[in-house]
Amino acid sequence: MSSTIEFDSVTKVYDDGTVAIEDISFTVEEGTTTVLVGPSGCGKTTTMQLVNRLEEPTEGTVLFDGTDIRNLDPIDLRRDIGYVIQEIGLFDHMTVKENVATVPDLKGWNQDRIDDRVDELLELMDLPPAEYRDQYPEALSGGQRQRIGVARALAADPDVLLMDEPFGALDPITRENLQDEFLEIQEEINTTILFVTHSIDEALKMGDRIAIFDVGELVQYDSPQAILEEPKSEFVEDFIGADRTLKELQVIQAGDLMEPADGYESIVDTIGESVNSGEEVVPVSPTDSTQVALSRMIQADIEAIPVVDDGEVLGVVTEDAIRDRREEPTNGGDRQSVSKTTNTGDV
Ligand code: ATP
Repeated sequence: MSSTIEFDSVTKVYDDGTVAIEDISFTVEEGTTTVLVGPSGCGKTTTMQLVNRLEEPTEGTVLFDGTDIRNLDPIDLRRDIGYVIQEIGLFDHMTVKENVATVPDLKGWNQDRIDDRVDELLELMDLPPAEYRDQYPEALSGGQRQRIGVARALAADPDVLLMDEPFGALDPITRENLQDEFLEIQEEINTTILFVTHSIDEALKMGDRIAIFDVGELVQYDSPQAILEEPKSEFVEDFIGADRTLKELQVIQAGDLMEPADGYESIVDTIGESVNSGEEVVPVSPTDSTQVALSRMIQADIEAIPVVDDGEVLGVVTEDAIRDRREEPTNGGDRQSVSKTTNTGDV
């Protein structure tokens, strides 16, 4: 089962007078993933914590399937909501199995049902149960611990899954692997997901919808394509780095993937493994922005797209090349995530 979450004119002012978010309204439809993204301190975590009532709104209403969450028992509510954070907080004195089974145990599931569920989730997370079930968290890598954290959050079939920078503490390769794995899992679990990140790339990859925040304000709530193709403000344009053209990127590779003379069809053949059958791949031109290319790749669910100029196929631009290039400018975002990872104590 999954649920709809609605924010209706929500403002949160902390006791010290800090306005964390102001007059936020948006709806997360059931079974979809909405990513909250924006610079440090813009109110993403506060918005997420209003859903599991770690924080309460100062004004406005948060609705869970149409019911004001103030009318729901916070303990019951939290058992229906999975929560994954950067510092995953596994219980070190408990085995992997005991960690994953925490909420089903609290909910009074019988042992057979719990055992089956734990094994099913460990399989899903690519951690063979026979090998991992009885291990203790300290014996696991950061990526494995984070997988256990996701399994624990999913254990009792939550209606909603909250994920606050879930992969933020991992090295880039592990992070990307977990993103890919989670995208597959997402299709199987059909849960409503609210996901916080400061990385626009992660947002574009993971979200059905993206909510871009700027100091307490929701500045655009749209699909990844709409964000890329129609940024509604200069802030959003800057945030997604929309001002680069493919020409400027200078990474169009003709030789590696194909002979240019083979033409467009053969490029599509070459990259065809990842092209969903029947889907049309619309090429880009060298003067298109990198965002347009990225947007088309996301639309067609592929990792490379042909660049065509005046009917001639110049080559193929890859998603990696665009992302690599966009990482070049100085960007303070990652420093924040590093400093947040220093404390990894249990909750
Ligand atoms: P980050 O990416 O750094 O985690 P964020 O976008 O998640 O940031 P929040 O953690 O929601 O932002 O914080 C929003 C604002 O509210 C910030 O100015 C922050 O300092 C402030 N804030 C957060 N928690 C509290 C608190 N308990 N008391 C007072 N101010 C707070």
